This record gives sequence, C-alpha cells and structure tokens, in this order.
Amino acid sequence: MPCEPTVIVHGGAGSWRRKRRLGTARRVLQEAVEQGLEALLRQDRLEAAVRAVEVMEDSGVFNAGRGSVRDREGGISMDAGVMDGVTGDAGAVAMVSRVANPVRLALEVMRRTPHVLIAGEHADQLAVEWGLRTLARRRSRKRPEPRIAERFWRLSGEALGDTVGAAVLDGDCNTAAAVSTGGVRGKLPGRVGDSPLVGAGFYAGRFAAAVATGVGEVIMLSLLSFRVVEGSVLAGGVGASAEAVVSWVTRAYGGDTVGVIGVDARGGYAAVYNTRHMPWAMARRGGGVVIGGIPSSSG
Ligand code: ASP
Repeated sequence: MPCEPTVIVHGGAGSWRRKRRLGTARRVLQEAVEQGLEALLRQDRLEAAVRAVEVMEDSGVFNAGRGSVRDREGGISMDAGVMDGVTGDAGAVAMVSRVANPVRLALEVMRRTPHVLIAGEHADQLAVEWGLRTLARRRSRKRPEPRIAERFWRLSGEALGDTVGAAVLDGDCNTAAAVSTGGVRGKLPGRVGDSPLVGAGFYAGRFAAAVATGVGEVIMLSLLSFRVVEGSVLAGGVGASAEAVVSWVTRAYGGDTVGVIGVDARGGYAAVYNTRHMPWAMARRGGGVVIGGIPSSSG
C-alpha cells in the first residue's frame, strides 16, 4: 500500500468550559477514529469518514445528531455533508431534524439522487423512505439567547463548538471528508451554516481533504475547506496549507473563529485552529491514537 490508512476527526472549534465532559469527549473521539479506521480497512474511505462521524453523532456529547444544540426558538436543525476526493462527488443535507445520522443521509443523497444538497422536511422524508434511523422527538424548550448578535462572527467562542468532522486517507492515497453539525447555539431558525456547503464546510480532492469547524458565516465567506485543499500542493502538504489559511482568516475576520482538520496523499495531516480548543484525534494503521486540542489537565 503506497499510503498508510489514516483517519482524523475533530469535535468542534470553540471553548470547552464544561470540563466534566472532557473525559467522555476524549473516549468518543478515540472510538470514532478506531471505528473509522476499522471501516477503512474493511470497506472504503467514504464508509470510514461516515462511520467516524456517526459515532460522534450518536454519542450525544458533541453538537451533532443526538447532541445537536437548539436554535433561538428551541428547535433543532442539523446540517451534514460528505465528499469523495477521487470521483469529486458530494452529498449534503441541510435543516434536517428527524434523521438520527445526518451524515449517513448525506451519503445516501450522493449515492441515490442526481443532487448534491437536499434541505428540510423533504430530506427527512427521504431518510424515512430509505429506512434510516430517526431521532426520538425531543420536546422543544424555549431558550432565548439574547447574546446572539446579528453578525455571528462577533460571537464569543462560547456559541460555537462541538460540531464533528472526519477526513480520511486510504491505502491507495485517496481521500474523503465528512461533517455533521447542529449549527451554532441560539441561531435564528432557518439559518444554514457552512457544514452542508461543498468547499466551505468540507472538501476532498485528489491530493488532500479538509473539514472545517467554527463560525459558519466566516467559513462560508472564506471558502475555508476548498482553500486549504487547493493550497496543499503548493504549500507542500495540508498542514502548511491549513496554517497559512487559518492565519489569513484570523487577519481577515478575526480570531476565535475557525478550525480545520485535513489529510494529504503524502501522509501529512492537519489540526489547526484559532479558537481556544478544537478536540481532535488521529489514528493510523499500525500506530496508536493521537489526541489533541483539549486541555490535558482536565481530560
Ligand atoms: N460550523 C458550524 C456552523 O456554523 C458550527 C461549528 O463548527 O461548531 O454551523
């Protein structure tokens, strides 16, 4: 095999103040990369990326799937996407609220429809039609968030966080990317973030794949994931490209805004952020699991 199969995941750029959850977050990240790697060795890169994200969606610890945060009206709307670096194919869903694993639905949208992005009730209906698991209905609690300003990028890192994503490199040096989120806390109902948008929340190409997290509005405007992937060849790897792009975003839009993970076909990987934390984990065949981005004293 010319490349060492690799899975890297993140648990969201932001600030982890609830220290009690850190130990659990660490365990879930570890399980996500382990299950992702297993799926990579037995199945393929797309299944690996989706499986890793599903583990985090199901955990209830992160802001995705079962753990999705609420909008200003107490509702839940989730976004997800997946992309194959070889075929250039992608699938995504936005504003879904019933499917348990939006990332799996995104994969099915890619496989079963001629479209890239399906939103709202229609996407949820497809999940039911295709026999995907649905979430138990959660009672809506009204929880107004007065601190939410019109300009989301002025938010403190507190409103962010815990979105999940995975980037994968298989033994043939092919990449895939997947992402899933409940969005930002206290968002306006109807708001869609970067996560279901190809090039913004995720991108996979021939040489590299990247998955973004942070203030969705900044990520959309900066086309963060595409920029990181596109810059990887010239920069000599996804790590150097991610560093360069995140420092440009910090200069252009401010700090405490974004994070990104990635892999490249030379075996490089990236976990770069300008927020306080961005929990991440990486597993390689034959190597252990590396975890970073969370305060070690509390884990
Ligand atoms: N990027 C996500 C969004 O804006 C949030 C996050 O990454 O925490 O929807």
